[in-house]
Amino acid sequence: MSFMKNITITIDVEEDCPPMLTSTRGMEEGLPELLDLFKKEEIRATFFVTGMMAKQYSSLIHRIPKEGHELGCHGYTHTRFDRMDKEEARLALKQAGKVLRQFERKLVSFRAPNLQFPKNYLKLLEEEGFLYDSSIAAYKPPFFQSKTESKIIRVPATITSSFLRLPTGLFLPLIRYSKAPVIFFHPWEFVDMSDTPIRLDCKFNTGEKALKNLEVLIRTLKAENYHFLTLQERAKLEKYK
Ligand SMILES: [Zn+2]
Repeated sequence: MSFMKNITITIDVEEDCPPMLTSTRGMEEGLPELLDLFKKEEIRATFFVTGMMAKQYSSLIHRIPKEGHELGCHGYTHTRFDRMDKEEARLALKQAGKVLRQFERKLVSFRAPNLQFPKNYLKLLEEEGFLYDSSIAAYKPPFFQSKTESKIIRVPATITSSFLRLPTGLFLPLIRYSKAPVIFFHPWEFVDMSDTPIRLDCKFNTGEKALKNLEVLIRTLKAENYHFLTLQERAKLEKYK
């Protein structure tokens, strides 16, 4: 498995562009489209969902494990963990775990909001039953991976989400160049956000264009015999590095 070309698609499931907006068009319009696309293309992905969104959109979240995807945890609300003290962080993980385990008993993967998770909180993840963490970014230097600090296996995200809304000719070479890329985006990116007061790099090419790009990406990599791994499958490869 480790010698094969592979890619991991991850989706952070939350309200629209937090904390700038509190609308949930991504949940109502974007997420069903993503699930439909993955179903049509017969690929699997990992969805990191906040406890709040899972509570509010339970029938949609049920589709995730039912359709063969991995359900992971993205906190309870979208509050940054580096702005919580240890007890608040523990409570957020407990609350999220309680909701998400109603959908998926084997909840083992985690990604913190804004990819911000203090290293000394990794122990909390262990205590709450998580095995894998994707709260770090390979594109945010300095990036150091230490294998000794915790049993949690950390798998960094390879490229930032807005990158995938650039022309495919720009991001496809980067994806081919990186070994076992882990890409991520959000349901709201597949809804036209051009009229909202969010940063330009957040809203450019949202909606149809983003969905088309993702379809091109999936079809291109399928044609190149890439394997689409969930985060937990991808994390297991780290052992053989
Ligand atoms: Zn997020």
